[in-house]
Amino acid sequence: MQREQVIVVKLGTSVLTGGTDKLDKAHMVELVRQCCELKKQGHRVIVVSSGAVAAGREQLLKPCGTSLVDKQMLAAIGQGQLIHIWQSLFALYGVNVGQMLLTRADVDDRERYLNARDTLTALLSYDVVPIINENDAVATSEIKVGDNDNLSALVAILANADKLLLLTDQDGLFTSDPRINADAKLIDEVAHINDELRLLAGGSGTHLGTGGMATKLQAADVARRAGVEVIIAKGAGSNVILKCMSEKLPGTRFLKLTAPKDGRKKWLLAGPKSNGQIAIDAGAISALQNNGASLLAKGVTNAFGDFERGDLIDLIDTNNQVIARGLTRFSRSEVNKIKGAHSNNIAQLLSYDAGSEVLHRDDLVLL
Ligand code: GLU
Repeated sequence: MQREQVIVVKLGTSVLTGGTDKLDKAHMVELVRQCCELKKQGHRVIVVSSGAVAAGREQLLKPCGTSLVDKQMLAAIGQGQLIHIWQSLFALYGVNVGQMLLTRADVDDRERYLNARDTLTALLSYDVVPIINENDAVATSEIKVGDNDNLSALVAILANADKLLLLTDQDGLFTSDPRINADAKLIDEVAHINDELRLLAGGSGTHLGTGGMATKLQAADVARRAGVEVIIAKGAGSNVILKCMSEKLPGTRFLKLTAPKDGRKKWLLAGPKSNGQIAIDAGAISALQNNGASLLAKGVTNAFGDFERGDLIDLIDTNNQVIARGLTRFSRSEVNKIKGAHSNNIAQLLSYDAGSEVLHRDDLVLL
């Protein structure tokens, strides 16, 4: 038998409705059966479920707009219905579910992140299947993750998951859009995510869900950096969830990278909002990437944004590409005073000695 794993199963609206305007309960029970089979095998399962807005639309029985507040209202109506359906379907297998509704703000703040992590861990330890969605009814654009692909990557990091299954209405990632190009080929395995692949993923999506391949790729990129294997596969495929645990995987698999062990670094990977940027030169980039070094003032060329000591910032190169993120030991005004300076001169430039590392290597993650 395989080692026990934590599996996050993300179910998009298109999977839950089978492309119709209503939740497809027959298909939902089939997905539940597979999740319960995984549990029987000793694995722990977390479900990230979309479908609140679709369920709300189904309930309301009146035409309704597509503005943010309309969607928030529909989510408020539909979320209760959605969790009720999951609860009754898992109950058929004697399995309890627990609802968690999250927003970006729950991940940005380290304290709230730890709270969410503890709740998730407790649910799993009591053999309960957490059913997670964005807290759409209250999430305004500033605190919204925005799509359940990225939300599921954050959940996978929170739960220290082994696998993230992004189940959708497509077989996986193709060499071109299979709906337009009959020659499009399924990509079985992805080891590197580059601009070419991002272009391929384009911006596809259905009218009911929020995500498309582009958000799936973003989510895969975030999760694999945290050591999570990601699989994009067709949710309607027979036994798809069980097959994702086998040797011969369906869909597209993204190989995981070596993850940092430190919990704080994992939180940094979960992508809390940064307060600014520090631009660094090629020498500093090489020292960070090849020698695992800390960032010294000497390698800093500029600073942007409004940040204080201890704030989260992004490190960018000359093309504004983010190459790392971490917690700065100096404020923006201090960084501006010491940028480019040799470590021996920093105390003199600031009139106090606060060390010479702008970002310590223990406080940063490379992207
Ligand atoms: N949270 C939304 C819902 O439950 C779905 C977002 C998404 O599909 O990415 O309807």
